[in-house]
Amino acid sequence: MPDGESERRMAVCTSCESAYAAEVWPDGTIKPIGTKGSCRCGSTEFRVAEYSSDVVPEPGESTDAADP
Ligand SMILES: [Zn+2]
Repeated sequence: MPDGESERRMAVCTSCESAYAAEVWPDGTIKPIGTKGSCRCGSTEFRVAEYSSDVVPEPGESTDAADP
């Protein structure tokens, strides 16, 4: 496995909680894509967002719009 490869992940600003698509490097650097490396709030501190737990679909969700 080559060194120096970045991973595409979601990152969240630790200051204002804005989420960005980001490159995460093996040395821990998190670089949001489409910015100059900082959040729009000016912070450059990000953490990787884990997005496995909040994608649970609502069970039995239905609307009562059907009217025969
Ligand atoms: Zn921010």
